[in-house]
Amino acid sequence: MKLASEIRTLFPQLRVSENVPLREYTTFRLGGPCPLLIEGATAGQLPDIIKLLNKAGQPFLVIGQGANLIISDKGIRQAVIRFCFDKPVIKSKGSRVTVSGDTLLDDLAVFTIENETGDLSYCSGIPGTVGGGIAGNAGAFGRQMGDHLVSVELLGLDGKVRTVLHNELEFAYRHSKLKGTGEIVLEATFELPVAKKEVMRIERDRIMQFRKDHHPDWHKEPCAGSIFRNIEPTSAVERRKAAGFFLQEAGAHLFRVGGARLYEKHANIIVADPGCTAQDVWELSEKMAAAVKEKFGIELIREVRFLGEF
Ligand SMILES: Cc1cc2nc3c(=O)[nH]c(=O)nc-3n(C[C@H](O)[C@H](O)[C@H](O)COP(=O)(O)OP(=O)(O)OC[C@H]3O[C@@H](n4cnc5c(N)ncnc54)[C@H](O)[C@@H]3O)c2cc1C
Repeated sequence: MKLASEIRTLFPQLRVSENVPLREYTTFRLGGPCPLLIEGATAGQLPDIIKLLNKAGQPFLVIGQGANLIISDKGIRQAVIRFCFDKPVIKSKGSRVTVSGDTLLDDLAVFTIENETGDLSYCSGIPGTVGGGIAGNAGAFGRQMGDHLVSVELLGLDGKVRTVLHNELEFAYRHSKLKGTGEIVLEATFELPVAKKEVMRIERDRIMQFRKDHHPDWHKEPCAGSIFRNIEPTSAVERRKAAGFFLQEAGAHLFRVGGARLYEKHANIIVADPGCTAQDVWELSEKMAAAVKEKFGIELIREVRFLGEF
């Protein structure tokens, strides 16, 4: 491919591969090929790479750790730029922390605790990058990425970089405007609530233990976290309700399609057994949603992103 060799010539330090199966690049370990995979780019190199892709008319997509993605077995037609912990940069001044979008959320949590820059301990153990976390407003224990974000450096699809403030990103539960625009978070700045190192360490330990007890270890049981979003309250006095509760009540925890099954401790997490396909996961998720619709009349909304044809 002419485009691949053009990128290699201009950026010899990058890893540029063609027709790459994406299963190695998602925590679900599923997915067919993409035409071009670009890895190892710094935030500073990405604008020029995007300009080259645009010039060649090649559609593209940025991914982080692939912890929220299920890619079709047939693959996808976009080139994939993997922006994930190659050269993460974290800087801090008081409680203001600036971090590159490819930094792992857990690394950021550790940095903020050990440098006592402020409390982001709820990010402990959440797989994925800061960029992916901001795009989907990742969170846990009632807190989410948008809460303490001041601004981001965004790379537009036209290759131009601009600074965007928190209120322009339209954060909502597991949502930001970036989910629709596809713009890339190069860097993010947070203003964090002050907390003592010892207190944050204890909180991190508690969270890591909770995750160990309740969630699968994706290195051993491939998955992408919760399949469906929790259910939004219908009045100001209600709280968000766990989708897992309704799934369990609808009997979905016993469902299986091919190699896809529900994690035994969490009816909202699908895990992949050997031989599982992305199509198995899609069909199991359809079956889960149908069971909750039939029993409770509730339409579940997917939190994970399915890419390509299903
Ligand atoms: C075991 C397990 C537990 C989990 N627990 C939680 C949890 O507690 N809370 C929670 O919220 N999520 C959880 N998740 C889901 C996942 O960790 C988050 O969705 C995470 O934010 C995904 O980040 P990522 O970098 O892997 O994004 P990817 O999966 O690679 O991409 C997801 C989306 O973000 C976009 N994106 C990626 N990088 C960027 C960037 N730099 N700029 C703009 N857009 C970008 C992609 O285009 C895609 O649309 C869990 C997942 C697993 C496997």
